Amino acid sequence: MSGFLHSRFSSLEAYTPGEQPRDKQYIKLNTNESPYPPSPEVLRALTERDVADLRLYSDPEGTDLREKLARLYGCGPENVFLSNGSDDILNFAFLAFSEDGAVFPSLTYSFYPVFCDLHGVDYETVDLNEDFTVNVEEMKGRGKLTVLANPNAPTGIALPLEQVEEIIASNPGHVVVIDEAYVDFGGQSAAGLIRKYDNLLVVMTYSKSRSMAGARLGFALAGRALIEDLEKIKYSTNPYNVNRLTLKLGEAAADSDEYFRKNAREIMETRTRVTDQLRALGFTAPTSSANFVFIRKTGLDGETLYRKLKDRGILIRHFSDPRIADWNRVTIGTPAEMGEFVQQVKTILEEEGLP
Ligand code: PMP
Repeated sequence: MSGFLHSRFSSLEAYTPGEQPRDKQYIKLNTNESPYPPSPEVLRALTERDVADLRLYSDPEGTDLREKLARLYGCGPENVFLSNGSDDILNFAFLAFSEDGAVFPSLTYSFYPVFCDLHGVDYETVDLNEDFTVNVEEMKGRGKLTVLANPNAPTGIALPLEQVEEIIASNPGHVVVIDEAYVDFGGQSAAGLIRKYDNLLVVMTYSKSRSMAGARLGFALAGRALIEDLEKIKYSTNPYNVNRLTLKLGEAAADSDEYFRKNAREIMETRTRVTDQLRALGFTAPTSSANFVFIRKTGLDGETLYRKLKDRGILIRHFSDPRIADWNRVTIGTPAEMGEFVQQVKTILEEEGLP
């Protein structure tokens, strides 16, 4: 620490992103990226002219992309907010809507408590049920900003839409954020409810199902007034928060919606197969509706599995949180990558003398 940092941040513990090592080529199953490239339309979208136009600022309103997304989600452009990755929107939401504090499940996206600490927001957590499902009753009517990742991370478990709606309806005086980063892999989106609930903010991303994590593009859907609040924050921090190239690529992706839906279906099929294989090897794995599985095997600690796989060129995620130290989160890759992963897991189990 420099000694210049505002004392407010001296004890802030920043979010730790999954590793992006550069020492060698890994089978990368650690940060929930898509194993498939963006659509052919996206690959072809940029011209020399677009690069030359980088001398100009981007359209701060992202007009064309918002219109395309509005058409896809059956709302108006005034219901769409664009951002530099969905982390940006979450950051804005914790900043803007947390006057009475915030609440989220005890085991969820580990960035939420960091946003709270960054903005000095008091927060509470609601313990998950034994089976890692969200305790819906306890999430209801909390009288504060309520944030729910659905499907949840790192468990991959999705709540049915009726239960999500109960949570939204029970908090009419406060914003309910539904973080749908993984919704395209089998969850039910709350996007259709934005007309009914003026406190609902649905947050989505291009990083997972749309294979564009490196483009940094997130969007939110909500009633006009909530979107205006987010715009106010955006224009008070970084008006050009989405760059020209990303806007253009995002439009091409919106024009090729079926391509990413097909990839999502393939990932879901691979997920089912891998989950069955891992369960047959004695792993516990909650049924996932995301592009990853959360796994544990009695007698094998998460750190060991992570390390041994890394030595073999496969990266998975291990969390230092003691409550889930026995667990690993494994992103679903291509069928070939997952075949190699399961093969290596079998070898490790043999080495460890585990049945
Ligand atoms: N929400 C959840 C639950 C996530 O796991 C992630 C990815 N780390 C994000 C939001 C943010 O994704 P991005 O900023 O790439 O859109």
